[in-house]
Amino acid sequence: MSRRQPGSRAEPPVESQAPLSLLEVLRRSTRHLAASGSETPRLDSELILAHALQLDRIDIYVQFERPLGEADLALIRPLLAARAQGRPLAQLVGRREFFGLDFAVDERVLIPRPESELLVELAIRLQPEAERAADLGSGSGCLGIAMAANLPQLRCDLVELDPGAAAVASQNVARHHLQARVRVREGSWAEPLEGLGPYQLLVSNPPYVTTSEWERLERSVRDFEPRRALDGGEDGLGPYRELLPQLPGVAAPGATILLEGDPRRLGGVERLVQEVLGEVATARHLDLTGRERVLEVRLP
Ligand code: GLN
Repeated sequence: MSRRQPGSRAEPPVESQAPLSLLEVLRRSTRHLAASGSETPRLDSELILAHALQLDRIDIYVQFERPLGEADLALIRPLLAARAQGRPLAQLVGRREFFGLDFAVDERVLIPRPESELLVELAIRLQPEAERAADLGSGSGCLGIAMAANLPQLRCDLVELDPGAAAVASQNVARHHLQARVRVREGSWAEPLEGLGPYQLLVSNPPYVTTSEWERLERSVRDFEPRRALDGGEDGLGPYRELLPQLPGVAAPGATILLEGDPRRLGGVERLVQEVLGEVATARHLDLTGRERVLEVRLP
């Protein structure tokens, strides 16, 4: 590494010469992230600057001329460097919006995906009167918390095997002031629910990527999000095989089960459901991109 001489013109992204204007920092950051492979370099840069400077994103636009000093740049640089290495933006800023709600996230949980909002929409539409619900393998808790936030009578259990993920879920329950109605229970799928039901609504977004697909996922997912939340084993159906046999023991008559899955394998999930639960009514629902994403199961 050669040391730069004063006055050298080869400036790395937001290297000194402070103060730079906010707009100039935004431009340099955007170029840097574009060059390092981000697909949304401008948006990422805006969100990083907003987070570092404790601004709402919109304020960036009214403060373009604001000079940023060395202290500001010192906050921005490590975030940019981490994003350039592939760390997901949600982990850098420690939060992600899902179903209009703000969730704490870190490397211990899957980052909530927009396609999973379909599952919450269906839950609210199909079981608006439900009193008891459970989210199996809750991760951040986004599914169960969004359901409880929208159904005022609902009590919901978030089941999570990983203690780190369960801690994030608890943090999110508190963030939404739902401690009275939403409980985090550590354990595997429906096991911790024995004797607590019956549940009218059972939902899950289990790991459903096959192991070989996992190996080929983009690095910002594979290297930064928890493998146990993504890798569903050789055929991507292992977690469904584990959880389905546990459901009849906790489900109420007429219960709705909503399972997220890979669009290419939702038919496989449906066949598994028929094998394990017998002849039950099912329907496949399409996500925002028109792909089969959620399997609805209606118990008799
Ligand atoms: N939809 C996620 C992805 O493709 C996978 C989520 C999951 O395995 N439950 O990254």
